[in-house]
Amino acid sequence: MVILELERVASQSPVRMLYFRTLWGEVCVKVDLSKIETELISFAETMSFDDERLDPTRVIGPMEVRLEGKVRPAGDHYLVDGRTSASGHLSCGRCLEPVEWRMESGFDLEVALTDAAPVDPELALDEADLDVVFLTEPLLDLEELAIEQVLLEMPIRVVCSEECAGLCPQCGANRNQEGACRCQPEADPRWAALKDLAGHDPVD
Ligand SMILES: [Zn+2]
Ligand SMILES: [Zn+2]
Repeated sequence: MVILELERVASQSPVRMLYFRTLWGEVCVKVDLSKIETELISFAETMSFDDERLDPTRVIGPMEVRLEGKVRPAGDHYLVDGRTSASGHLSCGRCLEPVEWRMESGFDLEVALTDAAPVDPELALDEADLDVVFLTEPLLDLEELAIEQVLLEMPIRVVCSEECAGLCPQCGANRNQEGACRCQPEADPRWAALKDLAGHDPVD
């Protein structure tokens, strides 16, 4: 991925796309807003993010993300809209096995340049509602935008199947596998009390 992007820098870097090499050797892609005067520009990038960068508690392995859109100047700010699509694997909320996940969604936001992020937290909240992104320099980071869009769409929890039996609470074996373990269910007095209640009408 990194090498691919570097080749692109050398061969056909569009004037308004800036490719930076970060301290740790990654390449990040930013749209140079200062070069946009009247016409709109479009961008299309395919990126790959590892689970650490997205959310290691929910994502397994790398995720391919495609970001397409356009930036239009609108007075003293910019309008950015487009589509994000991603495919990868999330971990099952019960057994932790990978579950295939795909998303596709549109986005529509406003980018404003500011000397500093709003100091008033109330104001910052209001602006967030309107999907306004404040930038302190005229560079729109496509990776940040892509990650934000993916996390917005990512479900809090997925299951590999409604019948997933999950992990054994005692030894951690995957109970979907035949003969996963021989642990006996723990006798829990609270559980027995709940069983007694079952069957009674909860209203009375
Ligand atoms: Zn599962
Ligand atoms: Zn067990």
